[in-house]
Amino acid sequence: MTESVPRENERQPAAAEWPDCALCGSVETRRLFTARDRLTGRPETFPVVACVHCGLVFISPRPPVQAIAAYYPDAYYPLDAEPSPESLAVAEGLCQRVMAWAHAHGHAAPRVLDVGCGTGVFLHLVQRAGGQVRGIEMSPSACAYAGIRYGLDVSCGTFDDVALPPGTVDIMTLWHVLEHVHNPLATLRKARDLLAPDGVVLIGLPNFASYEARLFGRRWYSLDAPRHLYQFTPATVQALLRQAGFTVEQVVHSSATFGLVYSIMGDLTGISLRLRGRSLSPGTWRSIARTLHPLAMPFCSVAARMGRGGALEIVARPQASATGLPGAW
Ligand SMILES: [Zn+2]
Repeated sequence: MTESVPRENERQPAAAEWPDCALCGSVETRRLFTARDRLTGRPETFPVVACVHCGLVFISPRPPVQAIAAYYPDAYYPLDAEPSPESLAVAEGLCQRVMAWAHAHGHAAPRVLDVGCGTGVFLHLVQRAGGQVRGIEMSPSACAYAGIRYGLDVSCGTFDDVALPPGTVDIMTLWHVLEHVHNPLATLRKARDLLAPDGVVLIGLPNFASYEARLFGRRWYSLDAPRHLYQFTPATVQALLRQAGFTVEQVVHSSATFGLVYSIMGDLTGISLRLRGRSLSPGTWRSIARTLHPLAMPFCSVAARMGRGGALEIVARPQASATGLPGAW
C-alpha cells in the first residue's frame, strides 16, 4: 500500500481510513490517479486506486462513515424545482420496467423498496401505478421534500437502518447507490436477505470501463470523488454480486448522455461543477446540457453498443435458499 502515502502538495481529509479491497480483501493496491472534489471545491485530494488482485477500483484513503456527510452539501440535491424533464423520464422508464416485471411475476401490488430514494419521484410514480412503496434516504432535506411534495413516508437514514423482516421485498432498487456506500458487499448481502425468494434487485451505477471514463480520467463527471467511494466495471460488480449471493440476470450498457455531457461542461466552464446552482442558474445549466445532449447521443449510443456505456443497469436475483420466511410490511 505504498501508493496510499500522501505525495507532496496533496492534502488528506482530516479524518481518513485505508480500506481493504471490498471484493477480495487484499491490501495491495496501485494508484491510478488523484481526484479532487469538483462539487464542493474542498482542498483535500483523493487517491483512486485499483486492487492488484481483483481490479476493484476505489478511493483510498477515504473519509470514514462518520465524516462522509460533510461531502454531501444541500446543493447535491436539486430541491428548488420540480424534477427536470430528463430526470422525470429516467424515473418513468424505471417505473415502467419495475411494474412490467411485477405484473409478469403475478404481483399486482409489488412491495418496492428504493434505497437512496432522493426526493421520491420514482416512488411516487410506482405508488401511482399500484405498488406498495418504501424509501430510505440519508438527506434530511430530500426526505422532507418527498413527504411534502408527494406525501411519501420516507425513512431518513442509511440502508443499515432498514429494519424490514427478511424476505419481504419484491423489488429493490439500488439506483446509483452502491458506489456511495463504505461496504458494498455488506449492502448487497443485506439486500439479498430482504428480498423475497422470487424478488429482484435493480442496480444502476457508473461504468469505470466506459469510453467516457477513459476519455476524461480524473475529470470524469461520474468519478464524483469522494462521494463515489467505489468505481465498478461489469466484471467487478458481477463478482461482487455473486459473492453476496446473487445470480446476475442482465447487464445493460446505458446510452444515457449525462456523464459525457456533464464531463464536457465541467471542462468548458474551466473551474468545476461548483458552478451548478451557483454562478449558473439551474435553468441555464440545464439549457447548456440540452444543447450538448444531441451532440453526445451518437457517441453514447455507439459506446453502449460496444459494451462501453457510461453507466450500467443490472438485474439480479437471490440465489436459491438465501432468504428467510416471508412476512408482512
Ligand atoms: Zn481485490
